[in-house]
Amino acid sequence: MRIVIASKNEHKITEVERILGDGGLGVEIVRGLDWPDVDEYETTLVGNALLKARSVVAATGLPAIGDDTGLFVDALGGAPGVHSARYAGPDASDEDNVSKLLNELVGVEHRSARFVTAIAFAAPGGIELTVEGRLEGTIAMQRRGVNGFGYDPVFVVDGRTLAERTESEKAVMSHRAKALHAFARAWTHADLTI
Ligand code: IMP
Repeated sequence: MRIVIASKNEHKITEVERILGDGGLGVEIVRGLDWPDVDEYETTLVGNALLKARSVVAATGLPAIGDDTGLFVDALGGAPGVHSARYAGPDASDEDNVSKLLNELVGVEHRSARFVTAIAFAAPGGIELTVEGRLEGTIAMQRRGVNGFGYDPVFVVDGRTLAERTESEKAVMSHRAKALHAFARAWTHADLTI
């Protein structure tokens, strides 16, 4: 089956291709198509992942996979959550978002958090499939490490931040990888006649 990944980020597309390709699902990722940007107005990750996938299906006529990720910090009532990309404002950089997060947590001892990625598959005719992947951790007191992106410098798993891990180490444990593996399993068990 030919599928479009609803992202302009080549790194993400390659990750999807590697995981779904290894699963022997007979998926071919189609590149080079274009579609209008979507306004992510939904209040859940799954809702926004579906918005992205559906907009690509509407524009290309091909099945599509969309994703959405958020960081949920318990001491902040789940913030930044669905709004992780814009936590410090509409044009916030990763640096701004991490600074805001550390400021909000000054003096907070209980720093448990999780990354959640929702993956949504949509196809012409209305077939849809959604899954989630999670990575549990804690928020560090300050930035550590130089690898990765986003909140990686402050997200600690087993004593090290994600920015202190190599790309391949992160690739096997990440919330996105877990969601993609869950998707591959769900796909194998679903009877998708498209
Ligand atoms: P998106 O849904 O991939 O656009 O990500 C939403 C927000 O979460 C952005 O601020 C990203 O920088 C951040 N984010 C997504 N995935 C990761 C990750 O693997 N590590 C750190 N931050 C991430």
